[in-house]
Amino acid sequence: MPIGLHRNDDMMPPALNMVMPLPRGTYRIGSGFGMRQLDGGSHFHRGQDIGVPVGTPILAPQDGVISDVLPHAGDAGNFLKMRGQTHGFGFMHMASFAPGIRNGARVRQGQIIGFVGMTGYTKGPHLHYEVYSLANGKHLDPRPIALTNARTITQADARLITQGQTTTAAIFSTSTTAQINPQTTVTATSTVWQMHRHT
Ligand SMILES: [Zn+2]
Repeated sequence: MPIGLHRNDDMMPPALNMVMPLPRGTYRIGSGFGMRQLDGGSHFHRGQDIGVPVGTPILAPQDGVISDVLPHAGDAGNFLKMRGQTHGFGFMHMASFAPGIRNGARVRQGQIIGFVGMTGYTKGPHLHYEVYSLANGKHLDPRPIALTNARTITQADARLITQGQTTTAAIFSTSTTAQINPQTTVTATSTVWQMHRHT
């Protein structure tokens, strides 16, 4: 069963102003950050897997700059990385990159940067979401940083942001549809993509 991530709360530190990398909805939480056993060995899984259908828009968590566009990057599939304001972010297994997404492109928070797929080594459609330190590149657990305390926006609002017709700041200041800080209540793990592997 899908696990709802969202509930209004207001514990978001301003310095960690982030939006969920997916439009508001319910998601199936797959493998989390940390060690896992696979193929007879141990691997460190450096992100959080979030199960959503192929074609679901992927949204920039913060304003930032695209740092790496990596098509067909082995197990990672179509792999995109960006530098945000406080953290870096990575997205694997994408179906495609959004128009205009290339190295050095500036993106706005909430802008559609690509679409969920199942490229690379994966058994099912999901977003592999990474968060890393801008200071040293070290990967961090996305859940407490970028999921638990993230705001959500609708797909319709994400389209308007992508078209340059609004910003998250405007949405959050005026809209009744924007939600602040969904509380992540994720207890389930998925078996669908347990074979999903990264190094
Ligand atoms: Zn993953």
